[in-house]
Amino acid sequence: MNSTAAEKDNGKIELSEEEESFAALGGDEETTLSTLSFPPSNLANYSRKEKSSSISPRTLQFIRMHYPAVPLDDWNDWRWQIRNSITAIDELRQLIPLREDEIHVLSTERDCLPFRITPYHASLVHPEDSHDPLRRILIPDVREFNRSAGEAEDPLNEDEMSPVPGIVHRYPDRVLFLTTDFCASNCRYCTRSRMVGRDEHCFTPKNWELAFDYIRSHTEIRDVLLSGGDPLTLTDETLEYLLSKVREIPHVEIIRIGTRIPVVLPQRITPKLMRIFRKHHPLWMNIHFSHPRELTQETSIALNRLADTGIPLGSQTVLLKGINDDADILRELFLGLVKNRVRPYYLYQCDPILGSEHFRTPVDTGIEIISKLRGYNSGLAIPQYVIDAPGGGGKIPLQPDFLIDKGGGMVRLRNFKGGVSYYPDTSAPDT
Ligand code: SF4
Repeated sequence: MNSTAAEKDNGKIELSEEEESFAALGGDEETTLSTLSFPPSNLANYSRKEKSSSISPRTLQFIRMHYPAVPLDDWNDWRWQIRNSITAIDELRQLIPLREDEIHVLSTERDCLPFRITPYHASLVHPEDSHDPLRRILIPDVREFNRSAGEAEDPLNEDEMSPVPGIVHRYPDRVLFLTTDFCASNCRYCTRSRMVGRDEHCFTPKNWELAFDYIRSHTEIRDVLLSGGDPLTLTDETLEYLLSKVREIPHVEIIRIGTRIPVVLPQRITPKLMRIFRKHHPLWMNIHFSHPRELTQETSIALNRLADTGIPLGSQTVLLKGINDDADILRELFLGLVKNRVRPYYLYQCDPILGSEHFRTPVDTGIEIISKLRGYNSGLAIPQYVIDAPGGGGKIPLQPDFLIDKGGGMVRLRNFKGGVSYYPDTSAPDT
């Protein structure tokens, strides 16, 4: 059994067969050209094959400029993307002009979340904008090395709540199963910055066996969330193995997968992977989105493929200062997700990991955004705003206050326009 991420196969994997290719069921030309996220400047330069290859025009331009010798079949192969991910400053500065402070951070040896981006994900960054939101998510910032009150390496206390390696058991009936420490692209605000990309070899088949034993011996566990790192960076064979082992435990009712792969490496969502998923229903998926610009042609194909496989899709978004802390940006993201059959599930207040102050907004910002969305987005396109309580207290929902007061058999309510309504409250009779 192969237990490692595709990158670690180091070129030994065969080139993709057609049935394993992202483009195998990719959008036809009409779909590709009618749902562009970025208007192409000159599609006439591209061949018909390129135009219909499930690659968005902006990304095609990026390939032409930076990867002209790479066949599109390779570009569409998720293993090629991982093997060719950008991890070094010299590679990065050829793609994106870097500021002096970024060069300084990237050239200094520090104990922090490693820098890593897939070529596809890099193609979404606007290189001319030194404060581009997607760039801020990916490129290290000198402020990561500041320390502020209340920050911690493991703010959710996951390590303390881990009875065996890889399992976090916080809620009575469900567990988090951390399957790998590897992600395709690393997010600078990651809650698990302490472990992602560290290659500390805790996620071994031997430790997975301990995790299976733990789940097996705790009959109250009905819901297992595979996370990491990103579990979809594991090979098909490894995922098949993990899903089969969890599915054969009789009291496990549902399996969930937490992933950012459809955003940073949509090429991973292949027909072959869908055949594996189909065998393990009920399977749910929560996908981490940060910005509406992440909803590209490629991501749309991946999401629709997952939805067609019968997987209910939810999203989770971390509220990030200067990146998405704006009602219009989040409205666009949430409406775009619903169009792609993804239900916005959680809007997270950013966890106070070490060096996260430049990402964290005041809590009032989140409440105000939800207040602005209410009534203007359908309820289907409004996630629950939550703080994951520091110390491991679990998710705590935060809501704008629509209840003004109650008494005299009535509740007084404020609607989304600020109008006041009264509701006869049978549970609070007039006294
Ligand atoms: S994809 Fe998730 S686990 Fe990976 S770096 Fe980003 S936030 Fe962390």
